[in-house]
Amino acid sequence: MTECNFEKCKAECCRYVSVYLDKPKTKADFDEIKWFTAHKNVNVYRDHEKQWIVEFVTPCDNLDKKNMCKVYGEHPTVCSSYDPEECTFNTQGVVWDKYRFTRPEDVDEYLMTRRMKKSLKKKKKQDKKRKARLKKNKGKKK
Ligand code: SF4
Ligand code: SF4
Repeated sequence: MTECNFEKCKAECCRYVSVYLDKPKTKADFDEIKWFTAHKNVNVYRDHEKQWIVEFVTPCDNLDKKNMCKVYGEHPTVCSSYDPEECTFNTQGVVWDKYRFTRPEDVDEYLMTRRMKKSLKKKKKQDKKRKARLKKNKGKKK
């Protein structure tokens, strides 16, 4: 297991709280994400495992000035079970989140891109069907 070096890494893992979100499906769900991101230091992202997460960027009160945990040994399970191999410091250069929303406008852009992708997919499907129909009709004429 990778060892932590609080002084070197500045304990990034102790500077935010993240909470799982249900996958957004409706307009109201995306409106809620816009509302989250309209708040200072609140972001939403979707990771590579398609999990939606709301992130509150705020340091833990148990962190001292030297980036050490004041309650080490009695710190919560959520901290002791965290795998440093996956932390931001040890995975520099690797982006875990596939989509990140830091402002309400990011949600609008995401939805617009998604709509465009859907309509392109639909058009491709229609073209494929049309070509298959033409091929079938040609075969009948022979
Ligand atoms: S309790 Fe300690 S290890 Fe856990 S987030 Fe706070 S400072 Fe970090
Ligand atoms: S998990 Fe990563 S960021 Fe957190 S203390 Fe360990 S090395 Fe630093």
